[in-house]
Amino acid sequence: MPNIPVAFGQQMQSILGEEFEAFMQSLDSQSPVTIRHNPFKFHPFNEGKEVPWCNQALYLPSRPEFSKDPYWHAGSYYVQEPASMFIGHIVKQLIENIDKPIVLDSCAAPGGKTTHLATILHEKGLLVSNEVIKTRAHILQENITKWGLNNVVVTNNDPSHFTKVRSFFDILVVDAPCSGEGLFRKQPESVSEWSENAVEFCSNRQKRILEDLWPSLKPGGFLVYSTCTYNTSENEANLQWLSEQYDVGSVEIKFEQEWNIHFKKQANLSIFRFYPHNTNSEGLFVTVVQKLEESDYKNFTHLKNPYFHKIVKEDFARLKEIIKGENIFLKQQPNGMVNLLPEHFYESTEFLATRLKVIYCGTPIAEVKGKDIIPMQGAANSIYLNINNFNRAEVDLSTAQKFLARQDFDLDTETGINLVIYNTVPLGWIKKMPNRINNYFPQEWRLRNN
Ligand code: SAM
Repeated sequence: MPNIPVAFGQQMQSILGEEFEAFMQSLDSQSPVTIRHNPFKFHPFNEGKEVPWCNQALYLPSRPEFSKDPYWHAGSYYVQEPASMFIGHIVKQLIENIDKPIVLDSCAAPGGKTTHLATILHEKGLLVSNEVIKTRAHILQENITKWGLNNVVVTNNDPSHFTKVRSFFDILVVDAPCSGEGLFRKQPESVSEWSENAVEFCSNRQKRILEDLWPSLKPGGFLVYSTCTYNTSENEANLQWLSEQYDVGSVEIKFEQEWNIHFKKQANLSIFRFYPHNTNSEGLFVTVVQKLEESDYKNFTHLKNPYFHKIVKEDFARLKEIIKGENIFLKQQPNGMVNLLPEHFYESTEFLATRLKVIYCGTPIAEVKGKDIIPMQGAANSIYLNINNFNRAEVDLSTAQKFLARQDFDLDTETGINLVIYNTVPLGWIKKMPNRINNYFPQEWRLRNN
C-alpha cells in the first residue's frame, strides 16, 4: 500500500464510515486494465468483461505492451480508466434532446474523455477540446488525429479566454486538475504530492476555472464537473459555491444500482462517487448541473474574412479522391493544408478561430504544394480514408513497429506514395524510391525504445 498521509486517512474515514477498511484494502489490489474501442475501426480485443457503463470498453485479463501495438498507434482503441467513461455515459443522455450540440471539453489532455465524447458526438455534434498547457495540447491533438473523426476543434487557451465565447456551448465538461486522491493506487507517486495545502490550492483553482468558463455555457446548457479526488473541498464545497454564485438546477441521470456507484442528492443536485472497493475502477467524483440563468447575448458570426479558403476546382477533384463518402466538405488553410470539416459546423469553427487559439480544426488530410497534393497523417488515420485509391504496402508486425519507430526497413512495393497497412489498419505513409524509403510518420509520434 502507498504510504498514506494521516490526514488523508482521517478524511476518508469520515467520508466512508464503515466502508473505510474495504477502501484501504482496495489500495493494495491491482488497478484494472481497461480499453475503449474505436467503434469505427478494427477491434483488436475480444476477450474481457464489459465495463458496465460503457459497452465499447473491456477489462483486459492482463496488460499488453500497448506502446508496441500498431493498433494502439492507429487509434483502434484508447487505454482509459473505467470510471472516466461515466462522463461519456452522462453526455450521451444529455445530448438526446439537443439538436446539433456543441460541447466544450475544457481540460482535455491527454484525451481519454475527449476521444469518447467525439465518438458520442460523431455526425451529430461538434467537440471543442481545450488544453491550457501547450505540450499537453499537442499530445491531445495527436490522440485526436489518431482517433480519426472530423468533429473536433482543439484549442490551447486558458479558461479565462473563453469569456470571448459567450453563451456558445450546450455542454461544458470540466474534468478539473485536482489533488488526485483517486489515483493513489494507480500512481503511487501522487501520494507524495498530496497535502492539505495542495487540496486548498486545487479547490481555489477549480473555482477560478468554473468562474471563467461559466459565461461560455448557453442558458439551459449543462455543466458536467468531475475530479479524480475524494475530499469535499474540491467537490461538494465547490458545487455549493457554484450554486451560491449562479442559478443552477438539478439534472437526473439514469444509471443502474448494480454498478455500485455511490449516489446521493445534495441540495437537490445529483452526485456520483466512484471508489475502487465498489466499482472496479479508480476514484472519481462527478456531478451535472443545468444553467438556469437567462442571457440576451448573441454571438455574432460573420464570414467576411474567413480563416479557411475555398479550394480551387482542379485541386478539389483530386483531394476528393482521398476521402470516401458523398458529402465531402473540404477547406484550405492559408498554409496550404486542407482540412475535412463537419459542414454543418463550419460557421462555428470560423467563429472559434477568430476568438481562440485554434491549433487543430477537423482532420488535416493533405497539403497542396504547387501542383502536388501530399496526403497527410490525418488522412491515414481518418475513418473516411478511401483506402482503395492508394497503393498499399501491407506489413507484418516487425515492419509495422520499424515504420512506427522510423527505423530503416525494406519493402517490395510500388514506387511512389504508399499507404502502410497492418492487418487492414492504415498506419501512415511512405514514399518508395528506387534505392530508399522515405518515412512520413510524424517524428514527434514515433515509437521509442523499439
Ligand atoms: N480530461 C483529461 C482526460 O480524460 O484525458 C484529463 C484532464 S486532467 C484531470 C486535468 C487537465 O487540466 C490537465 O491536462 C492539465 O494540464 C489541465 N490544467 C492544469 N491547470 C489548468 C488550469 N489552470 N486551467 C485549466 N486546465 C488546467
